[in-house]
Amino acid sequence: MIPVTSVRSLPEAYALLRDRPQGLRVLAGGTDFMVAVNARLGLDRIGHVLDIWRLQELRGISFTAGVLQIASLTTYSELMRSPEVVRHFPALSAVSREVGAWAIQNRGTLGGNVCNASPAGDSLPILLAADARLLLGGPRGERVVPAHEFFLGYRKTALGADELLLRIDLPVVEGARLVYRKVGTRKAQSISRTIVAVRATAGGGALREVRIGAGCVAPVPVRCRAAERAAEQGGDVRRALESDIKPIDDLRATAVYRSRVTGNVLLRLLEGLRA
Ligand SMILES: Cc1cc2nc3c(=O)[nH]c(=O)nc-3n(C[C@H](O)[C@H](O)[C@H](O)COP(=O)(O)OP(=O)(O)OC[C@H]3O[C@@H](n4cnc5c(N)ncnc54)[C@H](O)[C@@H]3O)c2cc1C
Repeated sequence: MIPVTSVRSLPEAYALLRDRPQGLRVLAGGTDFMVAVNARLGLDRIGHVLDIWRLQELRGISFTAGVLQIASLTTYSELMRSPEVVRHFPALSAVSREVGAWAIQNRGTLGGNVCNASPAGDSLPILLAADARLLLGGPRGERVVPAHEFFLGYRKTALGADELLLRIDLPVVEGARLVYRKVGTRKAQSISRTIVAVRATAGGGALREVRIGAGCVAPVPVRCRAAERAAEQGGDVRRALESDIKPIDDLRATAVYRSRVTGNVLLRLLEGLRA
C-alpha cells in the first residue's frame, strides 16, 4: 500500500515536503493522477502521496490591484461561475466549459492542469497569452515564475520536488482582449487537436502587445513569439508561426493538419481582434 498523507494546512504540507519521502507525489483533484495510477503508469515510482485537496489556503479567487489571483485548487466549475473570472478573463471561464464534462469540471483544478504540463492542457495557451505568473511555495520559501518559463520539456516543469503551485496570477491589461479557439474531434469531451489563445490591444486597424499561446503543437505549451512579432508588424503570421511550433503526428491528428489548422485559427482570431 502506498502511504497517503492528507493535509489540512500549508505548514503541514511543507513539513512533509521538507522530509521529502522517496517518490513523493502531490494529489489535487486526481483527474490526471488517478488515470495514470489506474493505467499503472509510473506506479512503481510513487512512494508516498501528499493529498492537498482539503487545503483551504489553496482555494479562492480574488481581484487585487489589477491582478486576478486564482488559487491553485480552483476547479473548472468555479472558474466557469466566478464573476471575477467571467468579467476579467471570459476566455478562461469559457474554456473551462470545454474541459471534460461535469465530473471532471467539478474535480479538475487549474493548478493540476498547469503542473500536469500536458502540451494539450486547455488552460495553458490562455495562461501564456495572459502573461500569467505562477506563485510556487515550499519549505524553502516562495517564488514567482512566469508561465512562459515554467514548461521546460515534455511534462517537465520548473516546479521543485519540494514545491507546490500555490496561485496563478493574471494581470489585467486595460483595453486588451483575450480570445481562444479549441479544435477537438467533437464539441464536448474531447482532447484538443490544437488550441490557440491570443491577447492583444487593437487600434487603427493594428494590433499591439500581442501575446500568442498554443497547445498540441510542440512538446510543451508554447508562446509563439515569431508570430506575435509578425502580427504586430504586419508580417506573414502563418510563416512566422511555422518557426514557433513543432507539431507531431499522433492518434488525434497529423503534424500537417495541426500546422495548417493552427495557422488558420490564429489568422481568424487575429482578424477578429482587429475588427
Ligand atoms: C475524462 C477526462 C477528460 C479530460 N478532459 C480534459 C480536457 O478537455 N482538457 C484538459 O486540459 N484536460 C482534460 N483532462 C485532464 C485533467 O482533468 C486536467 O488536467 C485537470 O486540470 C487536472 O487537475 P487535477 O486537480 O485533477 O490534477 P491531479 O490529477 O491531482 O494532478 C495532476 C498533476 O499535477 C500535480 N499537481 C496538481 N496540483 C498541484 C499543485 N498545486 N502543486 C504541485 N503539483 C500539483 C500532481 O502531482 C500531478 O502530477 C481530462 C481528464 C479526464 C480523466
